[in-house]
Amino acid sequence: MATTRTFSIIKPDATRRNLTGAVTKMLEDAGLRVVASKRIQMTQEQAEGFYAVHRERPFFGDLVSFMISGPVVVQVLEGEDAVATNRKVMGATNPANADAGTIRKELAESIEANSVHGSDSEENAAIEIAYFFKPEEIVG
Ligand code: GDP
Repeated sequence: MATTRTFSIIKPDATRRNLTGAVTKMLEDAGLRVVASKRIQMTQEQAEGFYAVHRERPFFGDLVSFMISGPVVVQVLEGEDAVATNRKVMGATNPANADAGTIRKELAESIEANSVHGSDSEENAAIEIAYFFKPEEIVG
């Protein structure tokens, strides 16, 4: 399996509860390495652009409002098969359905306030990384 990269967001429900370190530890314990990280306040335009694929979904407006309700930590993670490794440690979208030991099972509040985002494919990871980071901000 090759070393690859994925894109992660520690969402506002987690930063609000001071869980940046707790989430990052779970990512690191899963074998992922943080090779870029910054805490930002997303603008509405940024959040709408990031979640554009969900524009037609009924929860789009709520999701955008939630994502700009407080600071987030955007990260680039590196590791063996990083997209799949990250999705595994994140757990299911709805924390009620997530496996024990996953970030969402242990820390998330709800299907919307579910503590973390992680890219769902290597193609999207590359797009999402480029949306928030310049190449020189990523130091592997
Ligand atoms: P993910 O890849 O597991 O993050 O899930 P999706 O790409 O399907 O959804 C993106 C994000 O939208 C999720 O992480 C949730 O924050 C939010 N979301 C997904 N489904 C729902 C829903 O049914 N209601 C609400 N309010 N938010 C949702």
